[in-house]
Amino acid sequence: MNAPAEPLALPPGTATGPAARTRAEREALKLEKRLCRQVGQAIADFNMIEAGDRVMVCLSGGKDSYGLLDVLLKLQARAPVPFELVAVNLDQKQPGFPAHVLPEYLAGLGIEHHIETQDTYSIVRAKIPEGKTTCSLCSRLRRGILYSVARRLKCNKIALGHHRDDMLQTFFLNMFFGGKLKGMPPKLTSDNGEFIVIRPLAYVAEQDLIDWAAHRAFPIIPCNLCGSQENLQRKQVGDMLREWEKKHPGRVESMFTALQNVAPSHLMDARLFDFKRLQASGVPDEAGDKAFDNENFAEPVGRLFGGVTLVAG
Ligand code: SF4
Repeated sequence: MNAPAEPLALPPGTATGPAARTRAEREALKLEKRLCRQVGQAIADFNMIEAGDRVMVCLSGGKDSYGLLDVLLKLQARAPVPFELVAVNLDQKQPGFPAHVLPEYLAGLGIEHHIETQDTYSIVRAKIPEGKTTCSLCSRLRRGILYSVARRLKCNKIALGHHRDDMLQTFFLNMFFGGKLKGMPPKLTSDNGEFIVIRPLAYVAEQDLIDWAAHRAFPIIPCNLCGSQENLQRKQVGDMLREWEKKHPGRVESMFTALQNVAPSHLMDARLFDFKRLQASGVPDEAGDKAFDNENFAEPVGRLFGGVTLVAG
């Protein structure tokens, strides 16, 4: 079942005269179309959802997961193939967690949902000494619980609300701190091999999710209830990317396109390209080495959609 149509909710501080309202409504409509197009494109490009799938949509109460569920419901209503969505929230018993918010929201939508209540907060507090980072144990516990919920609900796929900026941040975190060219995959098997994990917001910019959450007036639950320190490395990388984008508009889009446009022969991983047995073929190859020629980087590239590059924006 799709989310009921509701009146447009304008972000606080928005001018409310008739002209301003019409403009805001037009912008909201454009944003909705962009979100649906980008999510639909990611689903198609990576074959994320197929007929008969039962997809568990993980809902934390943050803007990203609300946006994910919202857009998936819209796409489900017009999808050519039937699939099921089950919204799931894990109440980890963090102090101050407003346990009524998500059940009320989901009941209002009239969709299938499940709230799993497990006090991982107390376990984490008991096991991790004061002042130490709690996230790794907390997320390991959460992962195990979500797998068992997916199994119980007979879901074969798990949808997460990570977006384009999360994926780029992860790529840089792996490079800066892990010595790896490795990002966050749009689709992969879960580490226990049992489910397919999908990230339908892979092409969506975080700012669009912020704007959409304000427009739809989602009942956002704060994400700092556990009292954990924010991940400083991720914050630094996020700030770095925002700064780059401010100084060089289009850079984020170009870097994101690069993740879909990899040339193993021009990197140094001998597991991906057989440098040792390489022989000259005698056949000209545009992708071959151009010796001293400089590459021309006049324009940032647009986005690669299904093999076709579109201009950013
Ligand atoms: S921020 Fe809090 S809830 Fe999130 S993983 Fe870390 S400890 Fe868990």
